[in-house]
Amino acid sequence: MTSYNSSMIKRRKTRTVNIGSVKIGSAAPIVVQSMTKVATTDINRCVRQINRLVDAGCRLVRVAVPTAADTTAFAKIVEKVTVPLIADVHFSSARAIEAIEAGAAKIRLNPGNIKNPKDIIRIIYAADAHNVAIRVGVNEASIRDLKKDTPPAKRVMLMLHEMKKYVRLFESRGFTQIVLSAKSSDVRRTIEINRRIAETFDYPIHLGLTHAGLPENAQIPSAVALGTLLAEGIGDTIRVSAAGDPLIETEIAKQILAALGLYKTAAVELVVCPTCARAHIDVTGLARKIRRATAGIDKPLRIAVMGCIVNGPGEAADADLAVCAAKNKGFIYRKGRKIATVPDNKIVETLLKELNDLRCCR
Ligand code: SF4
Repeated sequence: MTSYNSSMIKRRKTRTVNIGSVKIGSAAPIVVQSMTKVATTDINRCVRQINRLVDAGCRLVRVAVPTAADTTAFAKIVEKVTVPLIADVHFSSARAIEAIEAGAAKIRLNPGNIKNPKDIIRIIYAADAHNVAIRVGVNEASIRDLKKDTPPAKRVMLMLHEMKKYVRLFESRGFTQIVLSAKSSDVRRTIEINRRIAETFDYPIHLGLTHAGLPENAQIPSAVALGTLLAEGIGDTIRVSAAGDPLIETEIAKQILAALGLYKTAAVELVVCPTCARAHIDVTGLARKIRRATAGIDKPLRIAVMGCIVNGPGEAADADLAVCAAKNKGFIYRKGRKIATVPDNKIVETLLKELNDLRCCR
């Protein structure tokens, strides 16, 4: 279960696009998506990865279909999962049509890769006939006229121009189930091009930063690029790109949304003080113990772990439960009110007991 609160951020108003059972646009919550990273033809592994992503909070999953064998496998994968799937089509219009017929809820087309208007129109008609949405995904690296020394403003202009051409073609055929994206590996250009898209179109926008790196390197650029845009109300679905397990991408995406109050998981949230010389306890060790002990709890409760009483009670005031450490003991708070003083070795036990009481009465 997931709940959302975007009261502080005014989302840019967009059309609504249906991706199977999932709605994208300002009238719907921002959707986290990710992409499978195993061979699509390895159906069982692919299904397992999709299911793990769904469990982690993805409401859409993208699957690459570079070959005809992949679209054949894709049709079988669609039957085995509950989440709407997006087929990522690269260079072949034939793959796009196959993926539509195989049950994709959306396909992603890169205007830099599929350029022939006749091919695009055939895809539009097939998508329309099967109620399939299309993401027009411009990628800076695929823009033909770019040179190494093309200035940033011109790069943004060329990306927008490519998108306008494509969208015009879709609209000329009356097709408006479109989601737009423009990706760059540069944070500032990602922000700029998405601002321009938001000014120009009223279609939902998918946000992402390409090739953001290893997870430890991807987090900050993704948070800056996507967070800036989301704080401006731009973005209806997001994917964080990072090398490695796609679950990490999902976790980073959720954290970016949560930092802006746009996503609240129904899990225990830990607020942990950064610790300093005043800490009376191993705050990190205690937080990890609490994290492990509460991992399976599906109630949106907040627990604060504070190393001392200097800032602790103030920080803990918003928490459902809190511990503020003192010398050899911990003060336990429930909704800002001190309810117990226990020795160090009883802190976790006491918190868990209180947590159980709170779960029962919620
Ligand atoms: S709560 Fe106490 S120990 Fe933790 S950072 Fe603040 S002052 Fe330091």
